[in-house]
Amino acid sequence: MRVITCLFTEHNLWFVLLAAIMCVVGATITVRLYRLVVSAQGSARLGWAFLAAVCAGSAIWTTHFIAMLGYEPGVPVRLDSGLTIASGLIAIAGSGAAFLIAGVHRSRIMQAIAGAAFGLTVAAMHFTGMFAYRVDGIVSWDMNYVASAIALSVAFGAAALYVAPNWSGGWRAMVPSLLLVAGIVSLHFTGMAAFLVEPLAGIEPGAESPAFTAMAIAVAIAGFLILGTGVATYLIEQRMREASEDKLRHMALHDPLTGLPNRTSFYARLDARLDGPQSDQTAVAAIDLNRFKEINDSWGHAAGDQVLIALAERLRRFDGGRHFAARLGGDEFCMILKTGDERELQDLVQALELEFNRPVQCGALEATTGASIGIAIYPRDGAERDSLVRNADLAMYKAKADPLTTICFYDSELGDAVRERRQLANDLRNAIEKGELSLHYQVQTSIETGDIRGYEALLRWKHPKRGNIPPAQFIPLAEANGLILQLGDWVLRRACLDAAGWPEGLKVAVNLSAIQLTHIGLPQQIHQVLIETGLPPVRLEIELTETALIKDKAQSLHIMRQIKALGVSIALDDFGTGYSSLDTLRAFPFDKIKMDKSFTDELKTDQRSLAVVRAVLALAKSLGIPVLAEGIETVEQLELLRLEHCDEGQGYLLGRPAPKDVVNRLGARIEVGGASPAASAPARRA
Ligand code: C2E
Ligand code: CA
Ligand code: CA
Repeated sequence: MRVITCLFTEHNLWFVLLAAIMCVVGATITVRLYRLVVSAQGSARLGWAFLAAVCAGSAIWTTHFIAMLGYEPGVPVRLDSGLTIASGLIAIAGSGAAFLIAGVHRSRIMQAIAGAAFGLTVAAMHFTGMFAYRVDGIVSWDMNYVASAIALSVAFGAAALYVAPNWSGGWRAMVPSLLLVAGIVSLHFTGMAAFLVEPLAGIEPGAESPAFTAMAIAVAIAGFLILGTGVATYLIEQRMREASEDKLRHMALHDPLTGLPNRTSFYARLDARLDGPQSDQTAVAAIDLNRFKEINDSWGHAAGDQVLIALAERLRRFDGGRHFAARLGGDEFCMILKTGDERELQDLVQALELEFNRPVQCGALEATTGASIGIAIYPRDGAERDSLVRNADLAMYKAKADPLTTICFYDSELGDAVRERRQLANDLRNAIEKGELSLHYQVQTSIETGDIRGYEALLRWKHPKRGNIPPAQFIPLAEANGLILQLGDWVLRRACLDAAGWPEGLKVAVNLSAIQLTHIGLPQQIHQVLIETGLPPVRLEIELTETALIKDKAQSLHIMRQIKALGVSIALDDFGTGYSSLDTLRAFPFDKIKMDKSFTDELKTDQRSLAVVRAVLALAKSLGIPVLAEGIETVEQLELLRLEHCDEGQGYLLGRPAPKDVVNRLGARIEVGGASPAASAPARRA
């Protein structure tokens, strides 16, 4: 009650209004600055805290003294200039300390504590200011009001700084400033209600001292300080916003690792280039690193990143930075090249290739990645952006596929080849239903006795227009198009069904692709087929290559064990063509090793290379695994293998792959004598 009477009867309301305006403006700017204190890092935080302290201190101080200018105690008044200045300094220093507390410890609770400290600062400033206020009368303080004033200031201050960092959108953004204003105003007027003056008899009220003029000037200066910090904040925030917008724009258009433009910028730049005047020739280079995966796998991703960054830097500077380079992802780069004519382009691309053949320093290691580069020239190889890029890619794939070329210029035949591949994949999709697929069987025999052990099932596709297509061509196509699972299932079923009708004891070997092995349902599928066809599991053999196994060793091993648990045996196909054959043999439980045809080939060209075959046989023997030699074409090869105690053989000499009735024609044993191929010669039954 006394607060209200004090406000309305003892104050000039114009001054109160002015004080309130100063307070609201100051508090609003303070809260803005305070949010910056809390969100800034390092020295920026210190700078913001300083500005916030100057602004808040000035706001408290001016609010107080403008209101004091409007205070009419009814007695003469003087001001102690020392204490007046001290009160201003207390306001600034105290607020600064509070903001720093909040800025350093960003927890919500510390922000509330900082707010309480701010509230205490306002109180300290107020009462110091009141001590500077000398009246000719008897002054007494109502301690209840003093305590309430301090409590209100602390509570509002704590609430204000507690919500300020989080409440920053919409109407809620206003709340912290209003809480600050409430704190300052309630402190002031409750504090004033505590201040009681009893005029001394005989003293005339009024007579203003010169100190009041000085104070009016000081208040004006403090007001300018508040406005100054406000304008400075606005300008700095504006710049920060622009800077962060620039940063966002940069992030959207650049690859974060290398800083090169990304795919989006590449397309934009290419569009602009193709739309603009064509004074130079424009070409697109699609680039793919050759040995990046190896570096990543063996040296780790950090090394891989380092290599990419170094190569990106080279591309940026290539040819004086005249061309536009972008990273499209992974180890894929793209460039827009500008040249005078095609001759110049040839030279330029060769120079570009050299950049990738120079080693990159990677800590103590040196890496040379090499690259496959595909070039498409505008407009000859593509009249618009997408076709130009696609054809550069096609050329790059061509270069990649051929180990001897690193640079490939697009030509229309390349496009034809791709279209043809696509067409063939479509035809393959329908081949099963149309009955164009069949299985041929190639005999596998004991080298020692010539006894037939079984047959390998080999898939055949008779294309209605193109005739026989070799599996080496359509199997990879099926793998790339996800058709291999369907195809593999068909082969397995067909082979087991055929073999179920063969004489007892003859096995059938079925090739499985790497992709089938990644399919966890495989053991179940094999089990199902065996049941449905009635083939005993011991008569089925699965052939796997090393590459199929090493993709995910743990998973492969798991699936292999499940297959073996069915009673089915497993052979390692194409042994000797992989990387770590010895490890594979040790790690996986194979029942047979199929020594690749390339070893057998050696036997006919070079007698000395017998040593290699001997080593393979000795190794297998030490592991207790029988060996089948693939691709036996001559009697000499067969003889040598017999002398080396190789267990089994397969090859044109023993029998070419042929339709299923070959099994019944061949009987149980093959005898090879002279040069006559056995498949055509009827064999004697044992
Ligand atoms: P592979 O498993 O190594 O099969 C042996 C290949 O060598 C067969 O070629 C066979 O005809 C050929 N060959 C056999 N003996 C001789 C010989 O004395 N001299 C020569 N020069 N070649 C001989 P084919 O049938 O063209 O099969 C090629 C490859 O296609 C196979 O190699 C196998 O990896 C794959 N393949 C064939 N059928 C299937 C299948 O049903 N499923 C899967 N996933 N792959 C299959
Ligand atoms: Ca095979
Ligand atoms: Ca093979």
